[in-house]
Parts: sequence; C-alpha cells; structure tokens
Amino acid sequence: MNYNLKEDDHNRLHDYMQKAEERAKHFIGYPIARDFDYSELYPLLSLPLNNVGDPLVDSTYDLNSRSLEQEVLAFFAELFNAPENNWWGYVTNGGSEGNLYGLYVARELFPNGIVYYSEATHYSVQKNIQLLNLRSIVIRTQENGEMDYEDLRQMLQMHRDQPVIMLANIGTTMTEAKDDLGEIQKILRDLAIKNHYIHCDAALAGTYSALLKMKPGFDFTYGADSIAISGHKFIGSPIPCGLVLVKKNYKERIGRSVPYIGTVDTTITGSRNGHSPIFLWYAIKKLGKEGLKHRALTCLALAGYAIDQLQAIGVKAWRNPDALTIVFPKPSIKLRNRWQIATENEWSHIICMPGITKYQIDEFVAELAADIEEQKSLALAQRELQEV
Ligand SMILES: *Cc1c(COP(=O)(O)O)cnc(C)c1O
Repeated sequence: MNYNLKEDDHNRLHDYMQKAEERAKHFIGYPIARDFDYSELYPLLSLPLNNVGDPLVDSTYDLNSRSLEQEVLAFFAELFNAPENNWWGYVTNGGSEGNLYGLYVARELFPNGIVYYSEATHYSVQKNIQLLNLRSIVIRTQENGEMDYEDLRQMLQMHRDQPVIMLANIGTTMTEAKDDLGEIQKILRDLAIKNHYIHCDAALAGTYSALLKMKPGFDFTYGADSIAISGHKFIGSPIPCGLVLVKKNYKERIGRSVPYIGTVDTTITGSRNGHSPIFLWYAIKKLGKEGLKHRALTCLALAGYAIDQLQAIGVKAWRNPDALTIVFPKPSIKLRNRWQIATENEWSHIICMPGITKYQIDEFVAELAADIEEQKSLALAQRELQEV
C-alpha cells in the first residue's frame, strides 16, 4: 500500500494515541493486567494468522498458530486437572464466548435442562441463555455476592424432574465472590438429581485461583464439566481473548467436517484470532507457573495494602477471601470517570491486577480522600442554603 495518511488524519491518530496512553495511567477499575511486554512478537503482526476451526485438527489454512494454541490448551488442561485424554478446548475471543460454548455443550446434552445462575452472574450469561433458547432460573445471592444455597435448594427441589445446568461463578464481576461446587453438588446429591452439568465461569479469577490452589476449588476434579476463562484479564493481552475447556466426550456431539477449511467446525465463530494464542503462549512460557504464581501473590499483597489505605481514610472497603477486587461505597462520578471505575447500585470496585502499582493506589486514595471532603462540604453548603 503506497499511500500515506493525510496530515489531518495523521494528527488525529497521534491525538488518539496520546489519549490512550493517558487513559492507561488511570485504569484500576477493570480486571485487566497491564504488565505485559510482547514486543518480541511484533513481527507477527504483519501476518494474517487465522486458527479457523478445531485447534486439534489440521487445516488447509496453514498460516495459523495451532501448534502453539495446543500447548496453551495443554497448560490449562493440566492447571485445571482436566481428565487425561478426555478434554478438548480452544482459545476464544474472551470469557463470554467460553460461557456460550459451555452452555451450548450443556444444551446438546440436556435440551430440556434448566440453567441456574445467581443474580451476581456476568451479563454475558443471560444473553447466552437467550441465544440458546434455554430455560433459566435466577438464584438469590448472599451479601458478598456468592450464591444463596438455600434458595438454590428450593428452586432445584421444585424442578427435580428437569436436568440441571449449573452456572457457577469463580469470581463474580462486582465482588469476586466464588460459588462453592461442593455445596452445589451436595444439594444435587441430597435431591438425587442425576442429570446435571456444571459450567464454571472462571473468567476473572480462574487462572490465579487454580495456580494458588485457592478455596473453594472449582476444577474438573471438583465436578466441573466445562470451564471458561478470559486471557486478557490475569495473563494479559493487547487483544481480548480467553479459553474454554470441556470434557471431550461431551463435545463430540458438536461440529461437522467442512471441506472448504479442511478441518472440523467445532468452535462458535468461523475465523479465529491466530495472534492471541501466541500472546498467551509467550506469557506462559516466559513466566512459567512459578512466575505466574509470584505475580498473583504480588497482586494479593497489593490488594491488602489498598484495603488498609482505604480504611485508613475512613472508607468502608471490604473484599472476599483471596480476592483482588476491593469493594467500597461509590465515589463521585468525576472520580469514577477519571479512574474508569465500574459501579453497580451503591458500590464501586478497584481490582489489583498485575501492573497496577502502589503509587497508583496511593494516588487514587489521596484523590478519594479529597473527593470525600469535597462531597461533605458540598452537602454542608446545600444544607446551609436550605436553612437560609
Ligand atoms: C470478564 C468476565 C466475563 C466476560 O469475559 P470477556 O472476556 O469480557 O468476554 C464473564 N464472566 C465474568 C465473571 C467476568 O469477570
């Protein structure tokens, strides 16, 4: 392409790039790692890599990264204790696609199953249920965002004749609460429900929970039938990505051979990103399990520090056990916009992901303290005005 950008467009791009750099400095409200350096891989950006179709079956589209994707899948299969020789999966566009795939497999197994998921579940799940035209029941949550098992028991009891498709959260979006597979399975046993499927939405916390063997466990040995994670969250990637793993014998009901791509169409999308598996591969190989664990421990320590600092200025901050997510009463809209802080009802959160520094926490806490003072004097001034 022998063209150059026009000067206006060049300036426009330059401005955008500066803005993105600036916004990256105030980014503590979403669970996204920022400490990656993939510069060694930049030459690959000049190639149209595409992993279309099944990652375990060769394709005529040979300009792909299947071989590396397979190693990434094997790494997570081991991390999540997938049954040997009986797992399958692929690198997705993110946690949402992994959830869709898990529910898709569940529906193929149990077409008349009912999906049970808690109020605190990620919005992708409700949409996926709609896409798959599945029946579903929303379960209440406890105050910390974890599923209310008593409510689950009652709902399951009322529909004992229908297969159960459980969607368990391994780290909810707002409070990083974890549903307990042990509790869930106990209820299924008590009610003698034999036809069940458990999908774990481990998009947020799956990787570090498994690395540090956090409680409650959620992997295949704990009863999961499929697990979805996001790759751009804890591992980190410039392109959103994720990974889904299922028991292979389930998946065999899905996918047909397509002559045009010379492989099997077992995934949700057609073309699949060929670069994101390489980012994941690179991070896994470079850091190794030990490096990744160390990174997770650093985050946990920072989360502890952030809680202490927030409480020291009188903010009622709290977190779930082993969570990197810190929840506190929502600050002003100005501060929320500046730091890109997600808010639901009266609560906001920050998430101490890899790459967030103590310096950023200090800066945020100082601004929050000033923000609270400002809100107080505003409220005071308003009251005085009313009294006059
Ligand atoms: C982020 C997240 C998702 C969605 O993952 P994407 O990678 O954004 O598609 C689903 N569930 C939970 C709990 C999440 O935190």
